[in-house]
Amino acid sequence: MKIDLTDKIAIVTGGSRGIGAAVAEKFAEAGAVVIIAFNKDKKSAGNVIDHLEGEGHNAVGCDISDPDQVEEMVGRVIEEYGRIDILVNNAGIYEEKDFNDTGFDLWKGIWERTIGLNLTGAANLSFLVGKQMVLEGGGKIINVTSRGAFRGEPDAPAYGASKAGLNSFSQSLAKALAPYNVQSYAVAPGFVETDMTEDVLSGPKGDEIRAQSPMNRVATAEEVANAVIMLAAPGNEFMTGAIIDVNGASYLRS
Ligand code: NAP
Repeated sequence: MKIDLTDKIAIVTGGSRGIGAAVAEKFAEAGAVVIIAFNKDKKSAGNVIDHLEGEGHNAVGCDISDPDQVEEMVGRVIEEYGRIDILVNNAGIYEEKDFNDTGFDLWKGIWERTIGLNLTGAANLSFLVGKQMVLEGGGKIINVTSRGAFRGEPDAPAYGASKAGLNSFSQSLAKALAPYNVQSYAVAPGFVETDMTEDVLSGPKGDEIRAQSPMNRVATAEEVANAVIMLAAPGNEFMTGAIIDVNGASYLRS
């Protein structure tokens, strides 16, 4: 099935690298106009935009954990493009620390940063974009969560909680916005080859992590992007509320 997103306006957060960049590439190939939001890496963001198929794409600097910057970005996109058809909440951080080596100040900082971006930031952006989608008569919101939401994250409990929260938020949004033809989905990857995991995958734990999947490898960013674009495609409206695993059978749930 060839996916056609011709002239759809899509925001992809964290589009300067990794999974977000792969999603931007797939969306542009399908004809969408893509706005990627990045945090600090303007050069990589510009590089992603320069290599996208089609015209009209843009990169916007926006710290998604800052509600004022989020509001400003949504206003700018609507002013410039007139509407938003697809939002991919992909920007995220992962901070790992052994429980016994963590002091309270560090603990508080990790929770504030992680929940602030991965959950509250995504919720704020979804609220503003969701309102706009309701006015426009429809749209799709896709949240990139994680396998960590289901199986426990002993060294990164804030991360696991942020992703479980985002799964739940995605489901709540699916119910709240279904009457307005706005759908909300989650994609929950296991380990993916990106900057976020480069150190751990190339380190002593790398083989053990790859062996978690009977395919003996981790996902590519492109494989996660394939799931995101599948949900963004017209025809998948009744899947709203779904959480799609992309983890190579490394963690199964039913
Ligand atoms: P990545 O390579 O580390 O890239 C992170 C992206 O998020 C970058 O574009 C970064 O922008 C952006 N970002 C970071 N902080 C931000 C902020 N405050 N405001 C706006 N953007 C911000 O990450 P990834 O591996 O592609 O992961 C993407 C998503 O997939 C994340 O939500 C992650 O939790 C989830 N995920 C990843 C894996 C994995 O194994 N990699 C597994 C499961 C789920 P700059 O380039 O400007 O810094």
